[in-house]
Amino acid sequence: MTVQARSGAVDTGYEAVIGLEVHAQLLTRSKMFCVCSADYTAAAPNSHTCPVCLGLPGALPVMNRQAVEMTVRTALALNCEIPPFTKFDRKNYFYPDLPKGYQISQYDLPLSQNGHLEFMVDGQRTRCGITRVHLEEDTGTMHHAGDVLQEALSSLVDLNRCGVPLMEIVGEPDLRSADAAREYLVRLRQILTYIGVNDGNLEQGSLRCDANVSIRRVGETQLGTKVEVKNMNSFRAVHRAIAFEIERQRKVLEEGGKLVQETRGWVETRGATVSQRSKEMAHDYRYFPEPDLPPLQLDRDLVERIRVAIPELPEARAVRFSEQYGLSAYDAAVITTTRADADTYEDLVRAGASAKVAANWLTGDVAALANLHRVPLAGSGLGIAGLTELLKLVEAATINGSTAKDLLAELYLDGGDPAALVAERGLAQVGDAAELGALITEVIDANPKACDDFRSGREAALQSLVGAVMKATRGRADARLVTTLLRERLAG
Ligand SMILES: [Zn+2]
Repeated sequence: MTVQARSGAVDTGYEAVIGLEVHAQLLTRSKMFCVCSADYTAAAPNSHTCPVCLGLPGALPVMNRQAVEMTVRTALALNCEIPPFTKFDRKNYFYPDLPKGYQISQYDLPLSQNGHLEFMVDGQRTRCGITRVHLEEDTGTMHHAGDVLQEALSSLVDLNRCGVPLMEIVGEPDLRSADAAREYLVRLRQILTYIGVNDGNLEQGSLRCDANVSIRRVGETQLGTKVEVKNMNSFRAVHRAIAFEIERQRKVLEEGGKLVQETRGWVETRGATVSQRSKEMAHDYRYFPEPDLPPLQLDRDLVERIRVAIPELPEARAVRFSEQYGLSAYDAAVITTTRADADTYEDLVRAGASAKVAANWLTGDVAALANLHRVPLAGSGLGIAGLTELLKLVEAATINGSTAKDLLAELYLDGGDPAALVAERGLAQVGDAAELGALITEVIDANPKACDDFRSGREAALQSLVGAVMKATRGRADARLVTTLLRERLAG
């Protein structure tokens, strides 16, 4: 498979034009227009509801200030302009999970516009425009149960999600491959979680992505017929669905067919998109200004206060980590993947661990243990303080790497005092040249064949001798020092 085919790029005279629409539930305590809790996932069906989010006649919405502020924070983090005036509109359509018969959304005067997002694709810096970030409310959810063949199919409606604050982040059609679309989404998710507005959960649908995909002849400036692809709930699904859709459209055109504007759903088990419905036009929704909510005039001081409170974003933080702590660009990117990881790293350095050693351990053994136990270091029994103590023992050469590794695994969940354990169990490294020298003499005497092999040029023989010395010290020697001493002795 060629790189081009893998990236989903079209190499047959066509180019793909992709724009993503991302919906992100906001991490507010209450819903968008009522006081119901927005934390509904574990709640009994329809228990987080009230006359407002059920759309009962006469109930009036009240705007959630926190949701507005989180949307402004997002928009600013995505380099958007915040117009001084914005309003909400009704998007009218009927669906069982939408009891009001309309969704409160934003149409012609969104909360923000004209932003952009930058990210890397195949080592190339890429920019995608952000058309707008606006605020709306989520719908309920449907659960289908029963058996189609026995005609005992039933559908259940849960309105707990109804009215949960939802941001829509509309990207410009600036993406040209499935790879670029995935990287855009990875970076967007990273920023949303960094600034604390969304939990980034694609699988559970608190972060959702639809893709508008079309293709056109290279050099053509007109856009081709657009297909909207839905139902992708992982980065992998987004990538596969877009790559599939580009290829499907190419085949239709190559065979002389005509594409229709429609919505297609990604079916993971079939690895294909299937037609769901023809695409509605904006006028089908009969948008009009929401009469129950006042338009919003955003105070400039408030916008500036939100701007200065935005935490350092992942890319800036990675650059600073490289400069301040001497990390490679790769290590800095890995350590700043999540805000929690980056905070943990800086806590370790502040507590006295060396910057380079802390980076190595965090991205290696600590990451593996955090994954294994599903507990981050900060929440583990060992914690920041315990790991710092352990790393100081390594840096001071009191213990060697493999002893530290064993102690880390042992203490990760329950914690303990690494220095006390080292003393109690006699785990301190055998670094004393006289003590090592005696052991080396014993090993040389006991292994005449390996010594001869090494002297006659077989480097590998040295490893078995190093191994024998390490074994004699119960793994407590510095393997590099042992190697050096052995070389000297065998040469002499
Ligand atoms: Zn409610």
